[in-house]
Amino acid sequence: ATFGNLSDRLADTFKNLRTKGKLSAADVDGTVREIRRALLDADVALDVVKEFTATVRERALGDEVNKALNPAQQVVQIVNEELVRILGGQQRRLEFAKRPPTVIMLAGLQGAGKTTLAGKLARWLAKDGHTPVLVAADLQRPNAVNQLQIVGGQAGVPVFAPEPGNGVGNPVKVAKDGVAWAVQKQHDVVIVDTAGRLGVDAEMMKQAADIRRAIDPDEVLFVIDAMIGQDAVATAKAFQEGVDFTGVVLTKLDGDARGGAALSVASVTGRPIVFASTGESLGDFEPFHPDRMASRILDLGDILTLIEQAQAAFDEEEALKVAEKFATDTFTLDDFLKQMQQLRNMGSIKKMMGMLPGAGAMKQQLDNFDEQEIVRTEAIIQSMTVAERTNPKLLNGSRRLRIARGSGMTVTDVNQLVTRFEQAAKMMKTVAKGGVPNMPGMGPI
Ligand code: GDP
Repeated sequence: ATFGNLSDRLADTFKNLRTKGKLSAADVDGTVREIRRALLDADVALDVVKEFTATVRERALGDEVNKALNPAQQVVQIVNEELVRILGGQQRRLEFAKRPPTVIMLAGLQGAGKTTLAGKLARWLAKDGHTPVLVAADLQRPNAVNQLQIVGGQAGVPVFAPEPGNGVGNPVKVAKDGVAWAVQKQHDVVIVDTAGRLGVDAEMMKQAADIRRAIDPDEVLFVIDAMIGQDAVATAKAFQEGVDFTGVVLTKLDGDARGGAALSVASVTGRPIVFASTGESLGDFEPFHPDRMASRILDLGDILTLIEQAQAAFDEEEALKVAEKFATDTFTLDDFLKQMQQLRNMGSIKKMMGMLPGAGAMKQQLDNFDEQEIVRTEAIIQSMTVAERTNPKLLNGSRRLRIARGSGMTVTDVNQLVTRFEQAAKMMKTVAKGGVPNMPGMGPI
């Protein structure tokens, strides 16, 4: 779906953020770089991306400290707030004229979804107690008038269309006549559908500007297909210059668009997104909420889960089992080895250490581990008998010598391993007595 890929990319970025301590400038820069790439790949306009990432960076490095949130959550929160901001901030409602009828003009490229939107908007308004009428001023596309009559019928609202021989070929006159007709029939909203072209052209824009001048609309809604990607900004700017729209409607948000149009248009034009269209049927339509859209892009629920999972580091069940072993003094060298192997499996040990629950205490020790050390540890432990692994107290001098020889290590290596194991077991036992180390609470976002 739209934003699917962007959501995944952002989630990956946040997942890699440390949850403890303070983010370093390097952490922040790395994250901002990934966000920048994700936004550019989603077709968000370069200027918008630059400003967005600069603000996120500045805020993430700033003193904005919220004690209830860990560093990763704070970055997510900042990104969320900045997304809301570039999407227009507050929800912008449709503006009605003080004296009806409210005149709404639709403009946009052909195929953007104007005609469909006219029907959706009319139905939505009618449900809300209004008495809208549609005006077919798109005389360019052969079937446009007919299509508007069909959606009008589906929405249950009247459609004003040029009579054969009267106004055909003159969209400005049709638009004016349509508004006059609505006034006379006491409809309180008039929605004027205008012609689009496949690309922006001067003639189309002049026609739209002429209609705007003739009917003096309360709202001019620029309808834009979220799928048009990189062209969104140029198209939006051309329409802003040409008809000076008052609001934006994003269509086809149900499609596989990368979403850049949605994220760029409001920001680049300074005009709010008023509605979103999410399908072909008349009900697939909703007022646009910047905050909801941002949450959807960030997939906040999912991201929070990911951060939680990262905090739990590895399989929670396994962690509980290990804690239980510490508490009951049944943690063995086999378990020790297994834990280390698990760490290795999960990639960089050092990176993982920051995410292990209760790892702070062991961090110092484990921080010094390297791949070779795991290999050595493996060799040593595998040279032990089952009895020795289960009960390291059996490890007297002669057994240690035997193990050293068997593993190709020195007795000192063996001694060090046993000491480290005992220290870890002792420390973890203390921690475990107070229960499993608590994960830091997930604060509100
Ligand atoms: P117009 O040329 O701007 O009037 O565009 P139309 O209203 O004729 O729409 C062009 C095509 O896009 C039609 O096939 C519509 O059914 C389709 N369409 C319009 N809005 C949406 C939407 O939100 N989602 C999807 N999937 N299709 C849409």
